[in-house]
Amino acid sequence: MGRRQVFSRGSRFAGLTVALVAVALGTGPDAAQAMAATHTTTAGAAQQSCTHERVAGAGAAYGWPLKPFHRQHPVRGYFGDPRIGHGEDGTVSRSFHFGVDVSGRDGTPVYATGTGTVRAKKRSVAIHLDNGLTFAYWHIVPTVSTGQRVVAYRTVIGHIARGWGHVHFAEWRGGSYVNPLRPGAMGPYSDRTCPAATRLSFERGGESLEADALAGSFDVVVEAADAPALSAAAPWFQLPVTPAVVRWRIVDEHGGVVVPWRAHYDVRQVLPRVDYHAVYAQGTTQNHPDAPGLYRFQLARNFVARSLHSGAYAVQVVLVDSRGNRTHSAWPFGIAA
Ligand SMILES: [Zn+2]
Repeated sequence: MGRRQVFSRGSRFAGLTVALVAVALGTGPDAAQAMAATHTTTAGAAQQSCTHERVAGAGAAYGWPLKPFHRQHPVRGYFGDPRIGHGEDGTVSRSFHFGVDVSGRDGTPVYATGTGTVRAKKRSVAIHLDNGLTFAYWHIVPTVSTGQRVVAYRTVIGHIARGWGHVHFAEWRGGSYVNPLRPGAMGPYSDRTCPAATRLSFERGGESLEADALAGSFDVVVEAADAPALSAAAPWFQLPVTPAVVRWRIVDEHGGVVVPWRAHYDVRQVLPRVDYHAVYAQGTTQNHPDAPGLYRFQLARNFVARSLHSGAYAVQVVLVDSRGNRTHSAWPFGIAA
């Protein structure tokens, strides 16, 4: 038995026009009502429904780097979010966010969350843990020096640097960064918010095409976001983060599968092994104060219309977060003869 949520259009969600209406799907008399709500389709939008999957092994291995260590803190940047940097020479760098941004006021003490030996830099501290892992804390003014021993939840390793309003926490394990919010890592962490797909478009050269009679070749882009489990304070209040998983497939009008499920994006454990541009489409932006980011996932590039017979189809999109909140949506389109 799970819980189910239904999306309806109209209210503000992290700057996007999607609202969540939570409906408990039980075995009681409410169940029929909930089921009815689930089948409500709203004009102009794909129907979306959210289910909550049980995620195994959700107990935390280590706490938060800010006090209180064993209570959940707002995270305003998720693992895998787009990070777009502008160099002084005009260059633009785009990458996947390799940790999580834990909100805290400038000057807040940041504690070791593992016991080990420090390597300190100007604005970051890495702790090489006795168990072989590495924890790293960025945008802090260190109060420890390289070679120093630190003790979990006892040693203050630095303070959040002025102007940053968060500590970027990263975990390095076996040669790659891993998602600190995966079950069994940093916690306690629970998340009841559902990711949402806000728009799916068929595009050519960045221009949106009419979906009902596609021909030639086209790109398929879905705009998707998740609300943070706990929102940070203004100016980061309710700014969106990325879902942990984006999957899609194409079905025909009879529900027959013509393009099987493809895992476009999955950062539940590690970052994508493909290039940034293979994941995010042009027009993707990251959060800025009071300005929500736009996460455009490039599901297909130069999809050839002729690979399908003329007729009616739908792109089905599944979004999942790191705690198993799973949203399904369907987006109709047509292939011209
Ligand atoms: Zn960060």
